[in-house]
Amino acid sequence: MNSNFLQTPIDYLKGVGPNRAELLKKELGIQTFQDLIHLFPNRYLDRTKYYKIAELQRTNAEIQVIGKITYIKTVDQKRGKRLVATFTDETGQMELLWFRGHKWIRENLKLNEPYVIFGKTNWFKGSFSMPHPELELLSAHEKSLRSAMQPVYPSTEKLVSRGITNRVINTLMQQLFSEAKNTFTESLSKTLLDTLKLLPKKDALFNIHFPKNNDLLARAQYRLKYEELFYIQLQLIRKNMLHKAKIKGYPFKKVGEYFNTFFKDHLPFDLTDAQKRVIKEIRNDLGSRAQMNRLLQGDVGSGKTMVAFMSMLIALDNGFQACLMAPTEILSVQHYNSLHELCNSLNISLYLLTGSTITSKRKEIHEKLENGSLNILIGTHALLEDKVKFKNLGLAVIDEQHRFGVAQRSKLWRKNEYPPHVLVMTATPIPRTLAMSVYGDLDISVIDELPPGRKDVKTVHRFDANRLKVFRFLKDEIAKGRQIYIVYPLIQESEALDYKDLMDGYESIIREFPRPNYEISIVHGKMKPADKDYEMNRFIKGETQIMVATTVIEVGVDVSNATVMVIESAERFGLSQLHQLRGRVGRGADQSYCILMTSHKLSADAKTRLETMVRTSDGFEISEVDLKLRGPGDLLGTQQSGVLNLRIADIVKDTEILKIARSYARQILKDDPTLAKPDNQPINFTYAQLVKYKNIWNYIS
Ligand code: ADP
Ligand code: MG
Repeated sequence: MNSNFLQTPIDYLKGVGPNRAELLKKELGIQTFQDLIHLFPNRYLDRTKYYKIAELQRTNAEIQVIGKITYIKTVDQKRGKRLVATFTDETGQMELLWFRGHKWIRENLKLNEPYVIFGKTNWFKGSFSMPHPELELLSAHEKSLRSAMQPVYPSTEKLVSRGITNRVINTLMQQLFSEAKNTFTESLSKTLLDTLKLLPKKDALFNIHFPKNNDLLARAQYRLKYEELFYIQLQLIRKNMLHKAKIKGYPFKKVGEYFNTFFKDHLPFDLTDAQKRVIKEIRNDLGSRAQMNRLLQGDVGSGKTMVAFMSMLIALDNGFQACLMAPTEILSVQHYNSLHELCNSLNISLYLLTGSTITSKRKEIHEKLENGSLNILIGTHALLEDKVKFKNLGLAVIDEQHRFGVAQRSKLWRKNEYPPHVLVMTATPIPRTLAMSVYGDLDISVIDELPPGRKDVKTVHRFDANRLKVFRFLKDEIAKGRQIYIVYPLIQESEALDYKDLMDGYESIIREFPRPNYEISIVHGKMKPADKDYEMNRFIKGETQIMVATTVIEVGVDVSNATVMVIESAERFGLSQLHQLRGRVGRGADQSYCILMTSHKLSADAKTRLETMVRTSDGFEISEVDLKLRGPGDLLGTQQSGVLNLRIADIVKDTEILKIARSYARQILKDDPTLAKPDNQPINFTYAQLVKYKNIWNYIS
């Protein structure tokens, strides 16, 4: 297509004057002809089906019915009058209502003539009514040539109030298509069109706006969704390939002494198949010339630490140092403790560096880091300080990624000549398809299997009214020697109130569980870090039986003797947070429990969240539900959701198309990295536009 034509400012379209142009720009971002063409309908009104009155459902859907008006009356109401017509077909009758325009309607309506009515139905006191229906005499309706599926375009109140109704947009679209003469350039390769039997671009664009029938509409939607997802994937995969080609890393040529000895003689348990698979994936990355940038997703307790440790051994085998960074002091200490013995048995020099490391120890660490006699360093943000200089950092592992920003991560990179390989571990699973779209430029490994023998955490939902029973249960568990978390929400907007809830709760728990039989820890955000650590440590050591806390304990803390997680006001937590909290228990051999306490007032979403928690403990399944409830933007935070400004595809519903699009994008780039082959020219051209305009639908068709 003549690209100048599509770039024409919308002002020049017949039917759009300066006022309308201004509104279209402001309200819908439509600047050019091309923008209008890519204004895709939100939905379609199905005018192929005619309902009988007896078939009507209480769904409030838009439907059409053929029948006759048999009676009209005016009814007084509080303010003004309403016009009520009785509409009858052979199966029953309903009411048509008007609150405005009585006179005109009364004068024009014909009694006992067949009409087609269209609109939303309401159900009230045993009968259906339709306010302000669209009306057309059946005779006229049969003659009109409107498409059976009527597009409904995105709109705003302002547009409608200024007269740019859906019908007007429809007319503008017709005008544009008649000027364009439907000669849009194809943007996918012939091979793709043929193999996937995709509708050609011009037919897809035509049918998305003027569907000839349901089948063509479905194919048009498929084609355009495919195209949208395909180009996102193409971009991400290309970025990943370029990164690999450009950023060299240290190739770890061998798997040596450390790894093999550990594997043969010191591995404390059999690895799960998932762990083995992921270690293999990492080993492949580390052996290549490219710098590894891998995201390791695995549910809480899936054994990510072991994978990290064995990856670090490969770094050591090749003469490099490694580090493991965690978001809190407590987590760093835990990692240090769990790796300490393993390292001793292998003669590995392991150190811990946190904010509270004393100066003399720090000095020692700095020295040993620089002369290379220190092999593995574990710690908090303290690792990022300028004084911390590695002799040759080969692998950086970052635990619980969501607590670190990207900028912080890259600080580690700047410590050597080549950037170290990076393994980011997260226990917040996000659905695979979403990961493909957002982290498509990272490589992703997934541990989707828990170590054997792990008992599912029994999860129940209890109402506040049953609190006494719950307390009795807690006492029984404590009598068995177990420990308990009781967690309160703390949401920033209602911080003061929440804080009061927490303290009230704490008081009542002290009353219910008095000394000297019971000892209670409390941890919340307003405490000094040192006090927090003190309280936390008392619980870890088993000196206290109950830990009352806000969500600060969400991340990674591991007390295997803690078997009960009570979550207060559970309806106020998000799904992924509930899942994270539940992950704090079920770490030992004993049966663990998660008790979700709520009031009786529950929204539909809250009910879904609670039911999901009770039903499953699969983090990926939970994240799928979460995605459906909250949408991708919320799930990821705003910064990454830009990738997901999809115009026509739906990241939740169109996962199958996404998978196909991704696999073809990958195949095409693998086969033709620079998109130089003749068949790929349409893709090459479109991709170049895409990179230039940074918007999937802003390229020239
Ligand atoms: P997370 O993935 O949540 O970081 P961890 O690495 O802390 O999980 O592992 C949780 C617990 O499971 C640890 O006590 C660890 O020693 C144990 N573990 C890890 N892998 C296995 C395995 N293959 N078999 C048995 N226990 C394992
Ligand atoms: Mg962990």
